[in-house]
Amino acid sequence: MHDHRRLGRELGLFDTDPLIGAGLPYWLPDGAAVRHALEEYVREAERRAGYQHVYSPVLGKRELYEISGHWAHYSDDMFPPMDLGGEQVVLRPSLCPHHALIFRSRSRSHRELPLRMAELGGMYRSEPSGVLGGLTRVRAIQLNDAHVFCALEQVAEEARAALGMIRSAYEALGIVPGRYRLSLPGPGGKYVDAPDLWRRSTALLTEALDASGLPYEAEEGEAAFYGPKIDVQVTDAAGRESTLSTVQVDFHQPERFDLRYVGADGARHRPVMVHRSIVGSVERAVAHLVERHGGAFPAWLAPTQLAILPVSDAELPHATALAHRCVSLGLRADVAGPDRGTLAARVRAARLVPYQAVIGAREAAAGLVSVRLRDGRRPAALPADDLLTRIGALVASHSTGLWDGPEPPERAEDPDRLDPPSRPPTA
Ligand SMILES: [Zn+2]
Repeated sequence: MHDHRRLGRELGLFDTDPLIGAGLPYWLPDGAAVRHALEEYVREAERRAGYQHVYSPVLGKRELYEISGHWAHYSDDMFPPMDLGGEQVVLRPSLCPHHALIFRSRSRSHRELPLRMAELGGMYRSEPSGVLGGLTRVRAIQLNDAHVFCALEQVAEEARAALGMIRSAYEALGIVPGRYRLSLPGPGGKYVDAPDLWRRSTALLTEALDASGLPYEAEEGEAAFYGPKIDVQVTDAAGRESTLSTVQVDFHQPERFDLRYVGADGARHRPVMVHRSIVGSVERAVAHLVERHGGAFPAWLAPTQLAILPVSDAELPHATALAHRCVSLGLRADVAGPDRGTLAARVRAARLVPYQAVIGAREAAAGLVSVRLRDGRRPAALPADDLLTRIGALVASHSTGLWDGPEPPERAEDPDRLDPPSRPPTA
């Protein structure tokens, strides 16, 4: 595997500046394109699974985290509070307290459960500067987070469904989970003292794991302070293991925030919170993807999906028109003309790009494109629109395949398919 820090810089995905600070990377356009594709995938998968998205602020009053228990159990990892007009606000260490308040902001009926609330939101961790590096240890984290507020009898099924979403996401991302870990509390005062609740939540997670048929290992001392977790572990280039995805059961925060819903019996009941993350933080997910694929991302994630290579300046207008067409179809394309070197040099420079479209005099005259796939395959030359339809279908299906896969749907004849662009392509 590759080191994502070195490769991330080489590929122009992200960087840091001492003036912004350690552990606070910024994303360059190519990195932002990968991240955007990943975030879109996650939001769409959540939407299909019945999640509703919210936005909540990255700050909150200190009191909020005192109620949630973070202040007592987690303050070593939190940024110091800021004094603001007589009150103290802190950068949030997690999204759960905000979501609990959003749940509490309306009276809730059992008919609304399971209420699945999702947010790709910022959270902050005061990591010591010695451990910071690349995208894996950062101080500002964008988390793919969600909380399912549900009745006790719905917990195991919600946890099982979350494991299913994780499995589908890994398939699309081309990630292989290292192992599944059932993370239990260990000795010490780090954990909420409620033995009965720990027993019940551990039983529910075990039930979900068994129902999914996944092999797992139980490990003490790895739970969240409020409850046990199922952690999906991956390994980085240096052989270090870290948690990417997680599913957690929490009886603690619903109690601390006095969450209620009105049951079918008309009485008020306490919901359970299932915390879950499909891809974890976008920082760690992208770091892992870079290491896993060595920069050769699945086509739907690739910063540039199509490198368009005109053989000579004479084919440049055709190349530009094709790039324009890509932009209008939502594909990310880059024209590499003769000013960037010989054709062989340009093919080499684009070796991580899933598709290379070569246009010579013969192709230009016939309205065709010669395709080279990243893996070395060279299908027969085909009409530009057929190529884009095929790539578009593979990208839309989040396939990790480059050519084989669902056949493109029939398309209507499009008379202006290779018209000169009305504006310069932005790809
Ligand atoms: Zn949470």
